[in-house]
Amino acid sequence: MSPQRRTIVSGAVASGILSSVGLSTLKSMTVPKRWSTQSELTFLEHSTQEYSADSAVSMAWIGHSTVLINIHGTIILTDPVLFNNIGVRILGATFGPRRITRPALDPSEIPVPDIVLLSHAHMDHMDLASLEFLTNRSPGKIHAITAKNTSDVIDYLEWNSLRELDWGESLDEGGVSIGAFPVKHFGWRLPGEPDRAKGQRKSGRSFNAYLIEEKQQNFQANRVSCDKIHRIMFGGDTAYTESFKDLNFINNIDVAIMPIGAYNPWKAVHCNPEEAVMMARDMQASTIVPIHCMTFPLGREGFHEPRARLVKAVHADSDLTLGYSQIGQLLKVA
Ligand SMILES: [Zn+2]
Ligand SMILES: [Zn+2]
Repeated sequence: MSPQRRTIVSGAVASGILSSVGLSTLKSMTVPKRWSTQSELTFLEHSTQEYSADSAVSMAWIGHSTVLINIHGTIILTDPVLFNNIGVRILGATFGPRRITRPALDPSEIPVPDIVLLSHAHMDHMDLASLEFLTNRSPGKIHAITAKNTSDVIDYLEWNSLRELDWGESLDEGGVSIGAFPVKHFGWRLPGEPDRAKGQRKSGRSFNAYLIEEKQQNFQANRVSCDKIHRIMFGGDTAYTESFKDLNFINNIDVAIMPIGAYNPWKAVHCNPEEAVMMARDMQASTIVPIHCMTFPLGREGFHEPRARLVKAVHADSDLTLGYSQIGQLLKVA
């Protein structure tokens, strides 16, 4: 942890969160000094059992767009960004924006994921240092799934499998099916690269949201402890798009994991919190949780603005529940 950070711990807040997420202990709550804040960030006490318990469907926000999802023992890690910087990687070092909130779990505490799910090739989502760490720790073990025309960035790593999914395609892995859906974003990682958003459909780097759906056999195997198939939408990185309306024929999307930051001034490619809520409503999700904020100084909006706007927008919507709103919190999905 950076020495410039101060630690604030509020017993009342901590006990409230303890009861809401069922954790026995909390790490300290920290905020960077240069943000003046009345709000607290909470952090997971590491408990890998939380994620490997076969009976659980849960998710924890590690930071930025990194969410650790457990679907009855299938562990999925989205857009892993686990270290201090994001950006260009040269000779084993990463040069770019520095994180302002530490990850809720240290990299060594992250359970070995069965699946790493990558929305697109932007530096804050496809982070080479994190992916090198995960594959070096567990060579040949992890299945990586990424957007069309992006696997070349990470094909030097020792995956179990590395597969691209284009919009409308899906695959089965472990106990889940994963389907790729279109979002409104852009794809180039380095200037000048082909980009689907520029109309380069064949060769352009693409960008996905993913519907994670529990497989029927997994459902049957766990019938004792759950009575429905769980579905989670990982929204990736997107501006407001009506494409999620196409999903409203699917019943029971339990949780929409939606980006809510970096909309100022980049609203053309990043939705604001109200639009994230609209998209969750478009797909008729029951619960929304945020990503893409409070971790790196990417947008000009204030550190706490996206979260405050999200809380307000969900509060105004009687059909939607806020699963959590802070980095480090855990949601147990019923
Ligand atoms: Zn992006
Ligand atoms: Zn991003």
